[in-house]
Amino acid sequence: MPPPFEISPPDMGPWLAGNTGTPGVWRWTASEPGRRVMVSALVHGNELCGAWAVRDLLASGLRPRRGTLTVALANLDAFARFNPQRPHVSRCVHTDMNRLWGDMPWRHDGTELASEHRRVLELQPHVEASDWLLDLHSMHEPGPPLALTGPLAHHASRAAALGLGALRVADPGHKAGVRLRDHGRFGRADAPDAFALLVECGYHGARASVTVARDALARFLDLSGVVDAQDMPAGWRQPHAHGSGPLLEVTDAVTVAPHSVPAFTKPWKSGDRIAKAGTLIGWNAALPVITPYDDCVLVMPTLLHARPGATLVRFARTTP
Ligand SMILES: [Zn+2]
Repeated sequence: MPPPFEISPPDMGPWLAGNTGTPGVWRWTASEPGRRVMVSALVHGNELCGAWAVRDLLASGLRPRRGTLTVALANLDAFARFNPQRPHVSRCVHTDMNRLWGDMPWRHDGTELASEHRRVLELQPHVEASDWLLDLHSMHEPGPPLALTGPLAHHASRAAALGLGALRVADPGHKAGVRLRDHGRFGRADAPDAFALLVECGYHGARASVTVARDALARFLDLSGVVDAQDMPAGWRQPHAHGSGPLLEVTDAVTVAPHSVPAFTKPWKSGDRIAKAGTLIGWNAALPVITPYDDCVLVMPTLLHARPGATLVRFARTTP
């Protein structure tokens, strides 16, 4: 059983409208030049921490001093279905919105379009008009916050410069489809000015996840240059004595096998470090899931949403 929800969904009220012609998407452009920065929340409809941070940002009346600030509430249809009795059901309406980006093969292969496909097409021009992207998420299980930098080194170094307390994880994404954070220029090595970061702020229902989301948002907007640090609401930026530590590089992902009801040998958490290669951590169909090398770090082990093709756990090693 997942732990209880300590937070309720924010009342989005007037913030659902947007000012761009796309519902839930807001944009302001400063008179001074600067980066085009986008912040997104609710790519998954039950991930409330980003919704709270973005709503409070919108309510604060913050405007960019330089460049462009775009704020997007992504899966509004799923969010509208949020039910505190069944908080995990409103992750999406039909399909995971964070597996539909990149080349979008579903546009041409006869896939019947669901509300998430249509919403991705609405959001696409806003994403492609951005240089920096912060995508706020939360996790099925309790665990330390994670900053997912994608596989490209320049994204990982920018993430280090933010000084977040989250573990930095370099990862190639999921077999099931391309994430928003890897879309277009955000996934290209020849686009060094592009930077995207997905922050997993903690457990979906944890009050602390809202604090993590606000801290990430304050640091991201400050480092991007669109605002000055003192423009952000007071108290959002948190002190992090030790920073995010060394970069963890994901080397393997275990995908749920067909006809499998996977299991773990214990309730593993992100960041759990397993000393010996070959340690049994669970089962996937009849196959043992074992760690591939010494000093292996587990990233987002989860049995929720463990349908065939979904990611069960990722293995990472510490980079020098
Ligand atoms: Zn998410």
